[in-house]
Amino acid sequence: MNLTATNHRIPLSDGNSIPVIGLGTYSDPRPVPRETYKAVKMAIDEGYRHFDGAYLYHNEHEVGEAIREKIAEGKVKREEIFYCGKLWATDHTPEMVRPALERTLKVLQLDYVDLYIIEIPMAFKALEACKDAGLVKSLGVSNFNRRQLEVILNKPGLKYKPVTNQVECHPYFTQPKLLKFCQQHDIVVVAYSPLGTCRNPMWVNVSSPSLLKDDLLNSLGKKHNKTAAQIGLRFNIQRGVVVIPKSFNLKRIKENFQIFDFSLTEEEMKDIETLNKNVRFVELLMWKNHPEYPFYDEY
Ligand code: NDP
Repeated sequence: MNLTATNHRIPLSDGNSIPVIGLGTYSDPRPVPRETYKAVKMAIDEGYRHFDGAYLYHNEHEVGEAIREKIAEGKVKREEIFYCGKLWATDHTPEMVRPALERTLKVLQLDYVDLYIIEIPMAFKALEACKDAGLVKSLGVSNFNRRQLEVILNKPGLKYKPVTNQVECHPYFTQPKLLKFCQQHDIVVVAYSPLGTCRNPMWVNVSSPSLLKDDLLNSLGKKHNKTAAQIGLRFNIQRGVVVIPKSFNLKRIKENFQIFDFSLTEEEMKDIETLNKNVRFVELLMWKNHPEYPFYDEY
């Protein structure tokens, strides 16, 4: 598929499509007021059309404001924007699902979100009703392992299959088995922390070295006149994985989007795959005692 800066959507199994790069909007430390708003506007000017956010990130209102302003300015149309929101773990009981989604829509001041994703395999039926009501175009999940995906895919009476699974994915954690399983089931993998996170030891497992300091990524960067970050992002989109790098800095927002004017050879792709350490940066240990903690299974 020939992905370009202006044409880089890939299909989802429900007939919708998703841009292969989006701007992550979770910020650590917490964003200062207006920072997210500015970053989203800059990103739209740079060509980003996909935004990954959540009510829980405390800045969803700024994402919505920036998107609405850019629509009002005539820079983009609503249908060109792809917004992914998230159902947090405390809103999983069926009667809480729609109010949670409606709260996101109210904060964004948008009529619908393009994708809404959940953390553990519950509440999908209530989400199906939200899709039928037009509040969300596509349904997806996040941090699901194979078994959890199978539970949902085999659910009797399932009306809509999840179209995406948002998981950690980058050259140090390439997710070969989960990726293969998802591809076999028409589920697009969306890579969070594609640059290896902000490395805050409060919640990031920093036992793996910094991804962006990797020798191979940097030497390939030199060869292609790109940065290690651009090589890591290109690696993922070239194998059909959507990336959502977070940056609130104009230089890096631009840099992360400049991944459509070069490609990696098959051999370079294979070399990058060998960097896989099978160690997560994001372990979500606060959930480690939950029966559905997703990361005990092999994948
Ligand atoms: P990323 O891998 O995107 O890394 C973000 C960090 O890298 C920031 O500190 C950013 O700083 C810095 N950075 C960005 N671009 C560059 C660059 N070109 N060179 C050097 N440094 C750079 O980590 P995240 O963990 O934020 O993941 C991305 C998004 O994924 C989140 O924002 C969120 O939307 C989503 N997410 C979802 C999760 C889930 O459970 N579903 C879990 C974790 C994340 P600066 O802003 O200063 O550029």
